Amino acid sequence: MSIAVGIDLGTSNSCVAMVKDGETLVFADSEGRRTQPSVVAFGYGSSVVVGPRARRQLVHAPESTVSSVKRLIGRRYDSPEVERFKAQTAYGIAEGDTGDARVRIQGKVMSAPEISAHVLRHMRRIAEESLGEQVTQAVITVPAYFNDAQRQATRDAATIAGIECLRIINEPTAAALAYGFRQGKRQHIAVYDLGGGTFDVSILRIDDDLFEVIATSGDTFLGGDDFDYLVGDRFLAAFEKETGLSVSDNRTVRLKLRDAAERAKIALSNAEEVEVGVQALYRSPQGREYDFRTKVDRYLYASWVMPLIDRTLTVCNEALSAASMTTRTVDHVLLVGGMTRYPLVREAVARHFGKAPNTSVNPDEVVAIGAAIQASNLTATSVSASVLLDVTPQSLSVRTIGGYCEVLIPRNSAIPTEASRVFNTAWDDQTEVRVAVYQGGSRLAEENELLGQFVLDNLPPLPRGQIRVRITFEIDADGIVHVRAVDDKVGLARSIRIEARAGMSQEEIESARFDDLNF
Ligand code: AMP
Repeated sequence: MSIAVGIDLGTSNSCVAMVKDGETLVFADSEGRRTQPSVVAFGYGSSVVVGPRARRQLVHAPESTVSSVKRLIGRRYDSPEVERFKAQTAYGIAEGDTGDARVRIQGKVMSAPEISAHVLRHMRRIAEESLGEQVTQAVITVPAYFNDAQRQATRDAATIAGIECLRIINEPTAAALAYGFRQGKRQHIAVYDLGGGTFDVSILRIDDDLFEVIATSGDTFLGGDDFDYLVGDRFLAAFEKETGLSVSDNRTVRLKLRDAAERAKIALSNAEEVEVGVQALYRSPQGREYDFRTKVDRYLYASWVMPLIDRTLTVCNEALSAASMTTRTVDHVLLVGGMTRYPLVREAVARHFGKAPNTSVNPDEVVAIGAAIQASNLTATSVSASVLLDVTPQSLSVRTIGGYCEVLIPRNSAIPTEASRVFNTAWDDQTEVRVAVYQGGSRLAEENELLGQFVLDNLPPLPRGQIRVRITFEIDADGIVHVRAVDDKVGLARSIRIEARAGMSQEEIESARFDDLNF
């Protein structure tokens, strides 16, 4: 019998869970850790280490250790997000053949799904070691704001890891499943998810077993990492001021200070004031070693990071207005993500929504638990499963003349959904129609994400307007876009071709598949 788990494939940490005999179970590694750093470290030759050991390598060999690869997954190399990310990483970022952002380690170029596959395999092994049985299927979660390419790339990662991906679900939806499990009450909830790399907020309506996401909003570049980089930079400025040195372009120094900032943040969750110390932070060319030492209290920390927390609240308001709701009409606020352990975040959320957030499920595990519940629903033989209705986070549109976008499927439409549009030839003897499909909220095509170009070719030469092709765009339950063309007259249904889609080809995915899957 196949075993299906739920995997929260997080930017900084991942977690794996399952429903066993009606109870949810979060798997721990041999040392009792219930979450694992999503870090992949490459050693000499073919050795690859994932999890806590890889996290430790981050400081010593940052150029061969990949963290936060979720920030690259499904993104184009030339996107502004990748440009921003490059400034923060010590490992190389290269352009793939199809324009996707890839990782370069020790001269070897690897796709983001390949790196994520290492994390997925690691999580799968933790579950297998604990169960003593093979795990073959999983429900995997992604931020609600992930677009088609990012969802597809996550699926590719599962394939490479030899996992059958039953369903991709949104992280806030999973959290709501974990909370709403067997509650059966009608309520509106806001899921505030501040993790290591991304911020998402979703407004959900739960009615009996029906979970409906009515609006989502988010910022893919706002998370705990940003707090740590910001505070690490404050430490750097203090260090430079104290020593008169100029070390801001030293990556190792920055990483050590970023690490110190994270430790300080976690310690400040439980203490009013903490001491920060980094031994041998910097060694000068003359061989002199410099330590770093300072004190931070909650008040000072708040003065640094409050603008970041305020940004999350602005995003909350956007989601509320998209759902035609106010903070008062929200019944519960659920907290997800490691950063929501920080008291300042909890206080700010409580003040903003005018109610104390619900924290009864561990914010690090809640998403994996929800994914496990959905995995159990999808594989259940009895029909007690919760129905999950989700929405598309971004509008799907086609480019029209003048570089504008015509929306076909508006954001926040319930999925699965489809829409179709008829395209005509614009001039005589036109043998090809190109349709550029975009995802995003702008009226201007160039401000949105190009999903792909669909080309209908080999059209018979006829006067303009005589060929009418109906193209149907479908967004499936995973949030992945499919396109089909239908034309009764010329039978074009099979001649649709997809171009300009960044990511891995089917052959590439197959050849990247790990060959050690049967163990
Ligand atoms: P996640 O992506 O949900 O695993 O969240 C990871 C983020 O949560 C990282 O930025 C961590 O530094 C942060 N984090 C974990 N525990 C705490 C804590 N007790 N206080 C503040 N931040 C934390």
